Amino acid sequence: MRCIVGILAAAGLALLAAGSGPGRAAPLAKDLFGHKPLPAATAPASYGFYSKGCFSGGIAIAEDGPNWQVMRPSRNRRWGHPDMIALIARLSRDAAGDGWPGLLVGDISQPRGGPMLTGHASHQIGLDADIWLTPMPNRRLSPSEREKLSATSMLKKDSLYVDDDVWTPAHVALLKRAASYGQVERILVHPGIKKKLCDTVMDDRSWLYKIRPFWGHHYHFHLRIGCPAGSPGCKPQSPPSHDDGCGKSLAWWFTDEPWRPAKPGTKPEPKARDVMTMASLPATCQAVLDAPAPASAEAVTLTGKGTLGAGGAQAPVAASAFAPAIPPLDVPLPRARPER
Ligand SMILES: [Zn+2]
Repeated sequence: MRCIVGILAAAGLALLAAGSGPGRAAPLAKDLFGHKPLPAATAPASYGFYSKGCFSGGIAIAEDGPNWQVMRPSRNRRWGHPDMIALIARLSRDAAGDGWPGLLVGDISQPRGGPMLTGHASHQIGLDADIWLTPMPNRRLSPSEREKLSATSMLKKDSLYVDDDVWTPAHVALLKRAASYGQVERILVHPGIKKKLCDTVMDDRSWLYKIRPFWGHHYHFHLRIGCPAGSPGCKPQSPPSHDDGCGKSLAWWFTDEPWRPAKPGTKPEPKARDVMTMASLPATCQAVLDAPAPASAEAVTLTGKGTLGAGGAQAPVAASAFAPAIPPLDVPLPRARPER
Protein backbone atom coordinates (compact mmCIF):
# COMPACT_ATOMS: atom_id res chain seq x y z
CA MET A 1 0.00 0.00 0.00
CA ARG A 2 2.67 2.40 1.06
CA CYS A 3 4.61 1.70 -2.12
CA ILE A 4 1.66 2.47 -4.33
CA VAL A 5 0.98 5.67 -2.46
CA GLY A 6 4.65 6.55 -2.82
CA ILE A 7 4.64 5.87 -6.54
CA LEU A 8 1.48 7.88 -7.07
CA ALA A 9 2.90 10.75 -5.05
CA ALA A 10 6.13 10.64 -7.04
CA ALA A 11 4.23 10.59 -10.32
CA GLY A 12 2.16 13.58 -9.21
CA LEU A 13 5.27 15.50 -8.26
CA ALA A 14 6.94 14.67 -11.57
CA LEU A 15 3.93 16.08 -13.38
CA LEU A 16 4.11 19.22 -11.29
CA ALA A 17 7.82 19.52 -12.06
CA ALA A 18 7.12 19.17 -15.75
CA GLY A 19 5.05 22.33 -15.71
CA SER A 20 2.39 22.78 -18.33
CA GLY A 21 4.36 21.78 -21.43
CA PRO A 22 4.61 18.31 -22.87
CA GLY A 23 7.80 16.29 -22.99
CA ARG A 24 10.29 15.37 -20.32
CA ALA A 25 10.01 16.74 -16.83
CA ALA A 26 12.56 19.42 -15.98
CA PRO A 27 15.01 18.05 -13.43
CA LEU A 28 14.41 19.05 -9.85
CA ALA A 29 16.78 21.67 -8.51
CA LYS A 30 17.38 19.52 -5.42
CA ASP A 31 18.81 16.75 -7.60
CA LEU A 32 21.15 19.14 -9.41
CA PHE A 33 22.38 20.96 -6.29
CA GLY A 34 22.24 17.91 -4.04
CA HIS A 35 24.84 16.08 -6.13
CA LYS A 36 27.45 18.82 -6.41
CA PRO A 37 30.37 17.77 -4.20
CA LEU A 38 32.27 21.06 -4.35
CA PRO A 39 31.39 24.76 -4.39
CA ALA A 40 31.35 27.15 -7.33
CA ALA A 41 34.85 28.60 -7.54
CA THR A 42 33.77 32.16 -8.24
CA ALA A 43 33.46 35.25 -6.04
CA PRO A 44 31.40 34.68 -2.88
CA ALA A 45 27.80 35.80 -3.34
CA SER A 46 24.36 34.69 -2.21
CA TYR A 47 21.51 34.70 -4.72
CA GLY A 48 17.82 34.71 -3.95
CA PHE A 49 16.15 34.06 -0.62
CA TYR A 50 16.94 31.74 2.27
CA SER A 51 14.38 29.23 1.02
CA LYS A 52 14.84 29.81 -2.71
CA GLY A 53 18.35 30.41 -3.93
CA CYS A 54 21.95 29.34 -4.12
CA PHE A 55 25.43 30.77 -3.53
CA SER A 56 28.87 30.86 -5.11
CA GLY A 57 32.35 31.03 -3.61
CA GLY A 58 31.34 28.90 -0.66
CA ILE A 59 33.86 27.57 1.82
CA ALA A 60 33.59 24.69 4.28
CA ILE A 61 34.25 24.61 7.98
CA ALA A 62 36.81 21.95 8.93
CA GLU A 63 35.38 18.86 10.56
CA ASP A 64 37.44 19.73 13.65
CA GLY A 65 38.39 23.04 15.15
CA PRO A 66 39.71 23.93 18.59
CA ASN A 67 36.19 24.69 19.78
CA TRP A 68 33.96 22.87 17.33
CA GLN A 69 33.19 19.50 15.77
CA VAL A 70 31.05 18.94 12.70
CA MET A 71 28.20 16.46 13.06
CA ARG A 72 26.77 14.27 10.27
CA PRO A 73 29.76 15.01 7.99
CA SER A 74 28.56 12.42 5.45
CA ARG A 75 25.81 14.84 4.45
CA ASN A 76 28.41 17.29 3.07
CA ARG A 77 26.48 20.26 4.42
CA ARG A 78 29.35 22.05 6.12
CA TRP A 79 29.46 24.71 3.40
CA GLY A 80 28.42 28.33 3.56
CA HIS A 81 29.11 31.86 2.46
CA PRO A 82 32.57 32.77 3.86
CA ASP A 83 30.91 35.27 6.24
CA MET A 84 28.78 32.49 7.76
CA ILE A 85 31.68 30.09 8.14
CA ALA A 86 33.86 32.76 9.74
CA LEU A 87 31.03 33.64 12.09
CA ILE A 88 30.66 30.04 13.29
CA ALA A 89 34.39 29.90 14.02
CA ARG A 90 34.12 33.18 15.91
CA LEU A 91 31.08 32.05 17.87
CA SER A 92 32.85 28.83 18.82
CA ARG A 93 35.75 30.79 20.27
CA ASP A 94 33.67 33.46 22.00
CA ALA A 95 31.30 30.85 23.44
CA ALA A 96 34.26 28.88 24.80
CA GLY A 97 35.32 32.05 26.57
CA ASP A 98 31.82 32.25 28.07
CA GLY A 99 32.04 28.69 29.40
CA TRP A 100 30.36 26.69 26.60
CA PRO A 101 32.63 23.70 25.92
CA GLY A 102 32.43 23.97 22.13
CA LEU A 103 29.99 23.83 19.25
CA LEU A 104 28.56 20.74 17.64
CA VAL A 105 27.93 22.10 14.18
CA GLY A 106 24.91 20.70 12.34
CA ASP A 107 23.79 21.39 8.80
CA ILE A 108 24.88 24.60 7.12
CA SER A 109 24.42 24.33 3.33
CA GLN A 110 25.27 22.18 0.37
CA PRO A 111 28.45 23.27 -1.46
CA ARG A 112 26.49 25.49 -3.85
CA GLY A 113 23.37 25.79 -1.71
CA GLY A 114 20.04 25.29 -3.41
CA PRO A 115 17.25 23.01 -2.27
CA MET A 116 18.34 19.86 -0.45
CA LEU A 117 17.53 16.26 -1.17
CA THR A 118 16.17 15.91 2.38
CA GLY A 119 15.21 18.27 5.20
CA HIS A 120 15.40 22.06 5.51
CA ALA A 121 13.26 24.42 3.48
CA SER A 122 15.87 27.15 3.99
CA HIS A 123 19.68 26.85 4.26
CA GLN A 124 19.83 27.52 0.49
CA ILE A 125 22.01 30.64 0.24
CA GLY A 126 24.78 29.80 2.69
CA LEU A 127 23.54 32.12 5.41
CA ASP A 128 21.81 29.62 7.74
CA ALA A 129 23.44 27.20 10.17
CA ASP A 130 22.14 24.75 12.75
CA ILE A 131 24.11 24.51 15.97
CA TRP A 132 23.31 21.74 18.44
CA LEU A 133 22.12 22.63 21.91
CA THR A 134 24.12 19.64 23.15
CA PRO A 135 27.48 20.85 24.50
CA MET A 136 30.53 19.45 22.75
CA PRO A 137 32.02 16.53 24.70
CA ASN A 138 35.52 16.93 26.04
CA ARG A 139 36.98 14.59 23.40
CA ARG A 140 36.98 14.13 19.66
CA LEU A 141 33.97 12.16 18.45
CA SER A 142 34.64 9.20 16.18
CA PRO A 143 33.34 9.29 12.58
CA SER A 144 30.58 6.87 13.53
CA GLU A 145 29.57 8.89 16.60
CA ARG A 146 29.30 11.97 14.43
CA GLU A 147 26.82 10.16 12.22
CA LYS A 148 24.84 8.43 14.97
CA LEU A 149 25.02 10.39 18.22
CA SER A 150 21.63 11.87 19.09
CA ALA A 151 21.21 15.45 20.07
CA THR A 152 19.52 16.24 23.40
CA SER A 153 16.06 17.75 23.40
CA MET A 154 15.74 20.73 25.72
CA LEU A 155 12.06 19.90 26.36
CA LYS A 156 10.29 17.79 28.92
CA LYS A 157 8.90 14.70 27.25
CA ASP A 158 5.66 15.34 25.34
CA SER A 159 5.53 18.95 26.40
CA LEU A 160 6.14 22.40 25.02
CA TYR A 161 8.22 23.39 28.03
CA VAL A 162 11.92 23.33 28.75
CA ASP A 163 13.30 20.60 30.97
CA ASP A 164 15.20 22.29 33.79
CA ASP A 165 17.34 19.19 34.18
CA VAL A 166 18.98 19.80 30.79
CA TRP A 167 18.64 23.56 30.33
CA THR A 168 21.46 25.55 31.91
CA PRO A 169 22.63 29.15 32.24
CA ALA A 170 25.34 28.21 29.73
CA HIS A 171 22.64 27.67 27.09
CA VAL A 172 21.35 31.17 27.75
CA ALA A 173 24.86 32.60 27.46
CA LEU A 174 25.41 30.75 24.18
CA LEU A 175 22.24 32.14 22.61
CA LYS A 176 23.01 35.61 23.95
CA ARG A 177 26.48 35.46 22.45
CA ALA A 178 25.11 34.28 19.10
CA ALA A 179 22.58 37.11 19.10
CA SER A 180 25.27 39.66 19.93
CA TYR A 181 26.74 39.77 16.42
CA GLY A 182 25.44 42.49 14.14
CA GLN A 183 25.34 40.11 11.18
CA VAL A 184 22.97 37.74 12.98
CA GLU A 185 19.42 38.77 12.17
CA ARG A 186 17.48 35.84 13.57
CA ILE A 187 17.96 32.82 15.77
CA LEU A 188 15.21 30.22 15.57
CA VAL A 189 14.42 28.16 18.65
CA HIS A 190 11.46 26.09 19.85
CA PRO A 191 8.71 28.24 21.43
CA GLY A 192 9.41 26.52 24.76
CA ILE A 193 12.98 27.81 24.67
CA LYS A 194 11.83 31.29 23.73
CA LYS A 195 9.41 31.21 26.65
CA LYS A 196 12.15 30.09 29.00
CA LEU A 197 14.28 33.05 27.95
CA CYS A 198 11.34 35.44 28.27
CA ASP A 199 10.64 34.16 31.78
CA THR A 200 14.20 34.05 33.07
CA VAL A 201 16.37 36.67 31.36
CA MET A 202 16.15 39.56 33.76
CA ASP A 203 18.95 42.02 33.21
CA ASP A 204 19.73 42.74 29.57
CA ARG A 205 16.77 41.77 27.40
CA SER A 206 17.88 43.79 24.39
CA TRP A 207 18.86 40.68 22.41
CA LEU A 208 15.65 38.72 22.90
CA TYR A 209 14.02 40.19 19.79
CA LYS A 210 16.41 38.22 17.60
CA ILE A 211 15.33 34.93 19.17
CA ARG A 212 12.30 33.75 17.21
CA PRO A 213 10.03 30.82 18.06
CA PHE A 214 9.58 28.14 15.45
CA TRP A 215 8.57 24.49 15.14
CA GLY A 216 11.31 21.97 15.85
CA HIS A 217 14.53 23.57 17.08
CA HIS A 218 14.60 22.02 20.53
CA TYR A 219 17.70 19.95 19.70
CA HIS A 220 19.48 22.77 17.94
CA PHE A 221 19.18 26.45 17.25
CA HIS A 222 19.22 27.98 13.81
CA LEU A 223 21.50 30.91 13.17
CA ARG A 224 20.63 33.21 10.28
CA ILE A 225 22.77 36.10 9.10
CA GLY A 226 21.69 38.95 6.85
CA CYS A 227 22.64 39.41 3.20
CA PRO A 228 26.42 39.85 3.03
CA ALA A 229 28.26 42.66 1.26
CA GLY A 230 28.87 41.90 -2.40
CA SER A 231 25.59 40.04 -2.81
CA PRO A 232 23.22 42.39 -4.62
CA GLY A 233 21.20 39.38 -5.73
CA CYS A 234 20.48 38.36 -2.13
CA LYS A 235 16.92 39.07 -1.05
CA PRO A 236 16.81 40.23 2.56
CA GLN A 237 14.20 39.09 5.04
CA SER A 238 12.26 41.88 6.73
CA PRO A 239 13.97 42.53 10.05
CA PRO A 240 12.25 41.20 13.16
CA SER A 241 10.33 43.79 15.16
CA HIS A 242 12.35 45.18 18.03
CA ASP A 243 10.01 44.23 20.84
CA ASP A 244 11.20 41.28 22.89
CA GLY A 245 8.70 38.90 21.26
CA CYS A 246 7.49 37.67 24.64
CA GLY A 247 3.89 38.85 24.30
CA LYS A 248 0.96 37.84 22.15
CA SER A 249 2.99 36.35 19.31
CA LEU A 250 4.60 33.91 21.72
CA ALA A 251 1.30 33.10 23.44
CA TRP A 252 -0.05 31.84 20.09
CA TRP A 253 2.45 29.00 20.19
CA PHE A 254 0.92 27.78 23.42
CA THR A 255 -2.54 27.42 21.90
CA ASP A 256 -3.71 24.35 19.98
CA GLU A 257 -3.57 26.05 16.63
CA PRO A 258 0.08 25.62 15.64
CA TRP A 259 0.03 21.96 16.67
CA ARG A 260 -3.30 20.82 15.29
CA PRO A 261 -2.81 17.80 13.06
CA ALA A 262 -4.11 17.99 9.50
CA LYS A 263 -7.70 16.81 9.15
CA PRO A 264 -7.82 13.15 8.17
CA GLY A 265 -8.12 12.83 4.41
CA THR A 266 -6.54 16.23 3.74
CA LYS A 267 -4.02 15.93 0.95
CA PRO A 268 -0.68 17.26 2.19
CA GLU A 269 0.86 20.00 0.09
CA PRO A 270 3.99 18.81 -1.73
CA LYS A 271 7.19 20.09 -0.20
CA ALA A 272 8.79 22.95 -2.10
CA ARG A 273 11.99 20.96 -2.69
CA ASP A 274 9.95 18.26 -4.43
CA VAL A 275 8.62 20.65 -7.06
CA MET A 276 11.31 23.31 -7.45
CA THR A 277 13.13 23.28 -10.77
CA MET A 278 15.83 25.68 -11.93
CA ALA A 279 13.00 27.91 -13.16
CA SER A 280 11.99 28.42 -9.50
CA LEU A 281 15.40 29.84 -8.58
CA PRO A 282 17.14 33.09 -9.56
CA ALA A 283 18.53 32.79 -13.09
CA THR A 284 22.10 33.19 -11.77
CA CYS A 285 21.78 29.84 -10.02
CA GLN A 286 22.27 28.09 -13.36
CA ALA A 287 25.67 29.82 -13.69
CA VAL A 288 26.44 28.81 -10.10
CA LEU A 289 25.63 25.22 -10.98
CA ASP A 290 27.78 25.35 -14.12
CA ALA A 291 30.77 27.15 -12.55
CA PRO A 292 34.08 25.27 -12.15
CA ALA A 293 34.95 23.69 -8.81
CA PRO A 294 38.04 24.51 -6.73
CA ALA A 295 41.01 22.14 -6.81
CA SER A 296 39.81 20.30 -3.71
CA ALA A 297 37.56 20.65 -0.68
CA GLU A 298 40.65 21.13 1.51
CA ALA A 299 41.71 24.17 -0.49
CA VAL A 300 38.52 25.94 0.49
CA THR A 301 38.14 24.67 4.05
CA LEU A 302 38.51 26.98 7.02
CA THR A 303 40.77 25.22 9.47
CA GLY A 304 40.99 25.63 13.22
CA LYS A 305 43.92 27.98 12.64
CA GLY A 306 41.61 30.40 10.87
CA THR A 307 43.28 29.79 7.52
CA LEU A 308 42.10 28.18 4.33
CA GLY A 309 43.70 24.93 3.22
CA ALA A 310 45.02 21.79 4.84
CA GLY A 311 48.49 23.09 5.70
CA GLY A 312 47.41 26.28 7.44
CA ALA A 313 49.04 29.58 6.59
CA GLN A 314 51.74 27.92 4.51
CA ALA A 315 49.25 26.16 2.29
CA PRO A 316 49.01 27.14 -1.34
CA VAL A 317 45.78 29.06 -0.94
CA ALA A 318 46.03 29.75 -4.66
CA ALA A 319 45.03 26.12 -5.10
CA SER A 320 41.59 27.58 -4.71
CA ALA A 321 40.65 29.03 -8.06
CA PHE A 322 38.89 31.93 -6.42
CA ALA A 323 41.21 32.57 -3.51
CA PRO A 324 41.82 36.22 -4.36
CA ALA A 325 38.10 36.89 -4.14
CA ILE A 326 37.76 35.64 -0.58
CA PRO A 327 37.56 38.50 1.87
CA PRO A 328 39.78 38.40 4.97
CA LEU A 329 38.10 36.01 7.34
CA ASP A 330 39.04 37.88 10.47
CA VAL A 331 39.16 34.77 12.57
CA PRO A 332 41.23 35.48 15.66
CA LEU A 333 43.32 32.80 17.28
CA PRO A 334 41.50 30.43 19.61
CA ARG A 335 41.92 30.86 23.34
CA ALA A 336 42.43 28.04 25.75
CA ARG A 337 39.24 26.36 26.86
CA PRO A 338 38.11 27.65 30.25
CA GLU A 339 38.23 25.40 33.30
CA ARG A 340 34.86 23.84 34.02
ZN1 LIG B 1 18.06 25.08 10.38
